[in-house]
Amino acid sequence: MILTGQSLTKTYGSLSALTDVDIACAAGTIYGLLGANGAGKTTLFRILLGLIKPNKGKVIINSDRIKPLGGIIEKPAAYEYLSAQQNLRLFSKIQKAPADKTTIENKLKAVGLSPERKDPVRNFSLGMKQRLGIAIALLNDPECLVLDEPFSGLDPIGIASLRSLIQELATKQGLSVLVSSHIVDELSKVCDELIILKEGQIVNRGATQEIISACTESYLISGPEITQTDLWEKVDAKMLRQSVQVFVGAEEIGEIISVLAKKGIQITSCTPEISMSKLFDTDTK
Ligand code: ATP
Repeated sequence: MILTGQSLTKTYGSLSALTDVDIACAAGTIYGLLGANGAGKTTLFRILLGLIKPNKGKVIINSDRIKPLGGIIEKPAAYEYLSAQQNLRLFSKIQKAPADKTTIENKLKAVGLSPERKDPVRNFSLGMKQRLGIAIALLNDPECLVLDEPFSGLDPIGIASLRSLIQELATKQGLSVLVSSHIVDELSKVCDELIILKEGQIVNRGATQEIISACTESYLISGPEITQTDLWEKVDAKMLRQSVQVFVGAEEIGEIISVLAKKGIQITSCTPEISMSKLFDTDTK
């Protein structure tokens, strides 16, 4: 494990922001930290990055890199009045990382930013600022990248493209990535593992697909003529316009899809409807 947090506990006066949180991050794996506002996500990331001290517990980093962890907490740290290149050069010099033209251009390209763009960062879209923030966080070649709410405020295209970037960093460069959000859908599409935080405590954790199936109580199946079959008389289902909400679990959905396929009924999507109460209250550890 590159990064391990053991029994991490943080209090602010009488408020318990984090209680006995254990976390372990391996190379090439993407971890999603899911929690509502105030659940303690930022507090945990701050502790892992060494920005604040826990009251109890310890962080163990197993790496021989000069700066094993890189991260963005709350918002990307770039100077708005400088261009992307100028920002990277400045941060490289501060961190004593290579700052020659080719290196800087390659680092911009690696996060999908064009080195041609010379205007100040204040003109950038939020998605571009996130990418620049990631480029800055990667300057010292860390083994673990911590991203606090990176999808927040991005449009669906921005979310999808940031997701691909995160996936690429984990798959191609073997980075361990820890990413937080309060939206399960943002994390479930990119994370290998989910850690569910509620009021400072981990209430659920595990492989993303296992958690999703354990917490799915119905599926929304869509298609132009999806309502036009007598199959729905035999299963617990609710007719919508071009969709049907089918109240079955992960073990039964495959059979329903296969019956629909045999009947020649076109399916355009099949999405699990995740039960938030199960996700946040059930301990499937
Ligand atoms: P959000 O999604 O809203 O960013 P979060 O899950 O990141 O929330 P934290 O920012 O970690 O949550 O906050 C956890 C709890 O600790 C909250 O109740 C917050 O008010 C409290 N808290 C965080 N930082 C401080 C601080 N410096 N002083 C006092 N209380 C704090």
